Amino acid sequence: MFAKKIISWYLTNKRDLPWRNTDNPYYIWLSEIILQQTRVQQGLPYYEKFVENFSTVEALAAADEGEILRYWQGLGYYSRGRNLHKTAKLISENYGGRFPDNFKELQKLKGVGKYTAAAVASFAFNERVPAIDGNALRVITRFLEIFEPIDHPTVQKKVFDLSLELMHGVNPALYNQAVMELGATICTPKRTQCDSCPVRLECKSYANKTVDKIPFKAKKTKIRHRFLQYFVFESAGEVWLKKRGESDIWANMFDFYLVEGENLAFTENLENCVREFGIEVVNITPYPTVNHILTHQKQQIAFIKVTCIGKPKLPGGEWYKLDKIEDLPKPKIIVDFLEILKND
Ligand code: SF4
Repeated sequence: MFAKKIISWYLTNKRDLPWRNTDNPYYIWLSEIILQQTRVQQGLPYYEKFVENFSTVEALAAADEGEILRYWQGLGYYSRGRNLHKTAKLISENYGGRFPDNFKELQKLKGVGKYTAAAVASFAFNERVPAIDGNALRVITRFLEIFEPIDHPTVQKKVFDLSLELMHGVNPALYNQAVMELGATICTPKRTQCDSCPVRLECKSYANKTVDKIPFKAKKTKIRHRFLQYFVFESAGEVWLKKRGESDIWANMFDFYLVEGENLAFTENLENCVREFGIEVVNITPYPTVNHILTHQKQQIAFIKVTCIGKPKLPGGEWYKLDKIEDLPKPKIIVDFLEILKND
């Protein structure tokens, strides 16, 4: 039987991860938000840092957003960090600091989708509900040989319903962990290790040699190419930084003067900026271009250090001493560039 076999495999092969040794919904929710679009090894130190500094949902709710973004720094997808804070506040204020204890109520929380709600409901409250992340979706579609596009909501619903049947009569938390672990370590997208799989003999894709063809999507994700130029204005040991607005991927974080263009030829944009704000330039130093890949975007980012006289007034930002910048929340690419600047 599928469920019993994968659970028994899981119990002897599982990776020891801290969020697996708890039924505290706050810790489980925290780990799930951190691990969205993030590999376990990358997410682990962040999880530990959050648990250490915010040991309860109330402590997280009481922190200010800048502090949370600073701890989140480097994980990317900063809206997750902001939603984490909003949800903590909501739980603290509207639920008396206690997480809702069921799948339906959990989905009402900000940033908590069907998968995360199912993970918390099953791991913390042992509710029988399948947690279908990308790993589980791959395992189930392959095991049952569902040859239909996984980006279609009807197919996702089908996998959810079939999983609900598959997990009948076993421990829901263990079942969900086992499926996801199998997908993360054995039933992987590439170099699938069917020879080590505990359900190989019952797996339809394995029998029919369709493992490499499942799962698939109907739509190809369109990648947007962006060309970003950062003018790093520097004057007498201070750097100009701007707090970004509320509505973009780096909302409320600090970065340099940014120009977006059709390519990375910066001369004309810099000349316009210098003229418009009456900047007296002493020196211009371009740095090697950085490629930054996101799920739907490929960004090419150029950093150009512009040393100038005095501290010209540029809109929306301020001049900061290098040691003061440490305390500001910043996207990872800005943190990395500041390291280069410091060692220059
Ligand atoms: S036999 Fe291969 S394809 Fe089937 S569930 Fe196991 S690892 Fe996945």
